[in-house]
Amino acid sequence: MRERVDLYIGDITTLQVDAIVNAANTTLLGGGGVDSAIHAVAGPELLAECRKLGGCETGDAKITRGYDLPANHVIHTVGPIWRDGRSDEDELLASCYRNSLSVAHANNIDTIAFPAISTGVYGFPKERATEIAVREVIRFLNQDNAIVKVTFVCFSESDFEVYSRILGERTT
Ligand code: ADP
Repeated sequence: MRERVDLYIGDITTLQVDAIVNAANTTLLGGGGVDSAIHAVAGPELLAECRKLGGCETGDAKITRGYDLPANHVIHTVGPIWRDGRSDEDELLASCYRNSLSVAHANNIDTIAFPAISTGVYGFPKERATEIAVREVIRFLNQDNAIVKVTFVCFSESDFEVYSRILGERTT
């Protein structure tokens, strides 16, 4: 299991994987953070394809091509906006990971990289989000042999420390 999960510190737009996941918003028409970084590298054709998708509900995921990104595809998922922790945030965040992985499987994607969905502008507490991300990915990989590798992209050293600790606890 542990060899199928990777941690990477840096910018998700540089990764040469089959799919990178975008922490998008419900319009799929661009936002801040990782979303704007992905659109900036992918180029205007990504936004043109996104316009045809008719948005995306919170917790759901939709796929496009990657255009000028090194990644072949982008899987756009919409994380929950953090409110008080009692507004379905945990379940919706878990759905983002599950649905992104299901979309990846359905499109024969074998390597996929996730940013820390909802933990930027959407304000989800990092540790709690990481617990959910790691739990859902491991659960999925245990039932699915087609996906070869999942990379968690940490945008800072401190995020990396949280991921490595929680991943260690879950895989030993
Ligand atoms: P959300 O609206 O879902 O919170 P954000 O894009 O604001 O999405 O942040 C999600 C996470 O992505 C945050 O942890 C942020 O630090 C991280 N992030 C921002 N830019 C990048 C990038 N280029 N590559 C990887 N992670 C990024």
